[in-house]
Amino acid sequence: MKTTRLLPENREFRINTIYCIGKNYADHAKEMGGDVPKEPVIFLKPNSAVISNGDPIIIPAMSSNVHHEVELTVLIGTGGKNIPLATAMRHVAGYGVGLDMTMRDRQSEAKKAGNPWAVSKGFDTSAPLSPFVAASSVPDPHALEISLSVNGTVRQRSSTEHMIFRVDVLIAYLSSIFTLCEGDIIYTGTPEGVAQVVPGDVLEAVIPGVGSIRHSVQ
Ligand code: MG
Repeated sequence: MKTTRLLPENREFRINTIYCIGKNYADHAKEMGGDVPKEPVIFLKPNSAVISNGDPIIIPAMSSNVHHEVELTVLIGTGGKNIPLATAMRHVAGYGVGLDMTMRDRQSEAKKAGNPWAVSKGFDTSAPLSPFVAASSVPDPHALEISLSVNGTVRQRSSTEHMIFRVDVLIAYLSSIFTLCEGDIIYTGTPEGVAQVVPGDVLEAVIPGVGSIRHSVQ
């Protein structure tokens, strides 16, 4: 069972479903050679993919091109179905920072073949995740600096203001399809600058005011 914590109370949450949003920043959609989506692109990770701050990211033997994607993460505190846009933010317990590690070579093959992304996105250690800070301590989740450094060099730096589909829209959309539950997590998509990691790299993902995580690559 994977759990996470909501600060500052240190309340424990059992991690339920992990929803991830693809191509939610226009500049990243462009660098992937795709159009900006007209509705959110959704995929899932198993909760067995989650690792905590400091745990190593392990590159699977089946891939020779694993990429980092730094993302704002959302912890759902109160579930619901068909949640209206106007009240969607009330369902957020907290915010964190995560990495959506991706076997880019396997994902490209899957895209070409029309196959799912479960393997390329859901492998063990593919979901580094910080603890969450209470939503009440984040004045505006769409005005957060977000960055990812590799060995001390910044590779990704942007602002959550550039998200195409914002947190309330994502919650309303997801809950129109899936029943959202306490402990669900949403990875809200990555800005531009994704790139390969190799064994020995040290990754640091930071959202000031929200959290930071540091992981070595093996
Ligand atoms: Mg991603």
